[in-house]
Amino acid sequence: MYNCIICRYHEIATKGNNRNMFERCLVDNIRRLLKGIVDCKVLRVRGRIWIEHPEKRNYTQEEVENMIPALEKAFGIETFSPAMRVDSDMEAIRKTVISMVPRVFEGRPDTVTFRVRARRSNKSFPLQSKEIEIDLVSAVASCFDHRRFKLNLNDDAELTLGCEVRDEFSLLYFDTYEGPGGLPVGSNPRVMTLLSGGIDSPVAAYLIMKRGSPTDYVSFHSFPYTPEETTEKVKTIAAHLNTFQQAGKLHLVNLLEFQKAVRDNCSERLRTVLYRRAMLRIAERIASETGCRALVTGDALGQVASQTLVNMDTINRAIDMLVLRPVVGEDKLDTIATARKIGTMELSENQVPDSCTVFAPSSPSTSVPLVIAEKEELLIPGYAEIIDRIVASREII
Ligand code: ATP
Ligand code: MG
Repeated sequence: MYNCIICRYHEIATKGNNRNMFERCLVDNIRRLLKGIVDCKVLRVRGRIWIEHPEKRNYTQEEVENMIPALEKAFGIETFSPAMRVDSDMEAIRKTVISMVPRVFEGRPDTVTFRVRARRSNKSFPLQSKEIEIDLVSAVASCFDHRRFKLNLNDDAELTLGCEVRDEFSLLYFDTYEGPGGLPVGSNPRVMTLLSGGIDSPVAAYLIMKRGSPTDYVSFHSFPYTPEETTEKVKTIAAHLNTFQQAGKLHLVNLLEFQKAVRDNCSERLRTVLYRRAMLRIAERIASETGCRALVTGDALGQVASQTLVNMDTINRAIDMLVLRPVVGEDKLDTIATARKIGTMELSENQVPDSCTVFAPSSPSTSVPLVIAEKEELLIPGYAEIIDRIVASREII
């Protein structure tokens, strides 16, 4: 019953000269997300993107239902609606509405609340928005028992017929779905997310993709001190995150040699900060080698010893590269809600040992000044070579 899906965006529309690039990126992403799901052409006309069948036939109910979850992953889309695209001609609009009525009203309870919302950007159209609305209510009443629907002009109407009259064509639709918002992934440079099996870092990766940056991942383990399940879990999370973007690579890094050197040479209470500084150094190396422009972590201020303000600062100063921390100011419950919404929570909940806990002190220092961390690192023989070996021996998936 629908011959197109209309996609609306918001932030992209505010992008003066770059708007074209953002729109093209969104069109490419929609094509990729719908590949293998339906045959489609993705087109754009001033401020709107729509999807139609290459043979211009209507999509079946099943095809529309299959497209919805894919479009819900298209960053940049604010809302979308399966719609009928018709000529901007009142007679054609009326006829199309009448053809849609049986399918939409069928199977509804006895009385249904209903309204029409019309908008026209085509100012030469003979009817004004209000007149279009009245015209279409009578069109519905002409083919559907008027005692079975009640007009309700408020937002809580059970059925809303949307009608947009534009210069090139008009659109008619009943359902509007929410997209994820943000900017199309690929419209900003690639980044590298430090991905653990926890709740926060998958959410951080998602939020950065939502701002347009595709991401690769680096994950640290301490095999055989951490089990196979630790890396299996991260692989599963990375694969899930990749459903939102074009496949990002996962770098699996064994930190154990470094952790042993810290255990044997450094003060126990400083281990956490020293591990983290090494993690950032390794991640920065891999990111530079692979063309990623920033690192991303799931740090949240004050959450654990490594995330006190002083320790975050001391850790951060190990490297020069920009570190993005999209959940730094979030309440944990909000991060959990996002993790549920994007489908990573159930993957993170499965508890497995984390690399950071290997030889971890029972009471890590929550305030390590930079000079102390730097002094302590001088006690590790062959620090740079250890990092070189660890980077070189990583596994890339
Ligand atoms: P998460 O829920 O993401 O694990 P967390 O609350 O457990 O975060 P930490 O374990 O202190 O917090 O980690 C802070 C951040 O450091 C993580 O969000 C992640 O970006 C990075 N990180 C920690 N452990 C690892 C690891 N084993 N591999 C890669 N990155 C890690
Ligand atoms: Mg963790």
